[in-house]
Amino acid sequence: MYRFSRAIYRELADEIVEEQYNNECPRTNHERVLRACEAAVERLATDRHYFAYPARSLFGDIRVYFPMSAQMRVLRVIERYLGFADEFLRRQPQNGYDVYGNPLQCRASTRRGTQCQRMPLPHNGYCPSHQHLAETEDEELAAAFAAA
Ligand SMILES: [Zn+2]
Repeated sequence: MYRFSRAIYRELADEIVEEQYNNECPRTNHERVLRACEAAVERLATDRHYFAYPARSLFGDIRVYFPMSAQMRVLRVIERYLGFADEFLRRQPQNGYDVYGNPLQCRASTRRGTQCQRMPLPHNGYCPSHQHLAETEDEELAAAFAAA
């Protein structure tokens, strides 16, 4: 997955603003941008269903390290590469593991309060017996948007 975060970083690295007076760690902001990109891509890979606006979220994390004039380009680059990453993740075979080798689990909790151990369906992260929760979730989301 790191090729996606590296690609974002590489495209943007030239425009990162560094503080002039920080001689001890002259590349601090570069490091921060790279870490933020990695964290966003990792979260997209492992926690996609809870990560509502990945591009906006990453942009919010790193935009302070870029000049005003670069902001639009930063957002476009982020959107493009997170789009590629998302497409890549959607094409992964559903073999019960995420791209890091962690077993996939249904997002629901059982009545005993433990996490459901069944294999989730790729489109919403719930197992077949918990599909109704995804529908409720959609309705809640729609209601939230309507109220906003
Ligand atoms: Zn389940």
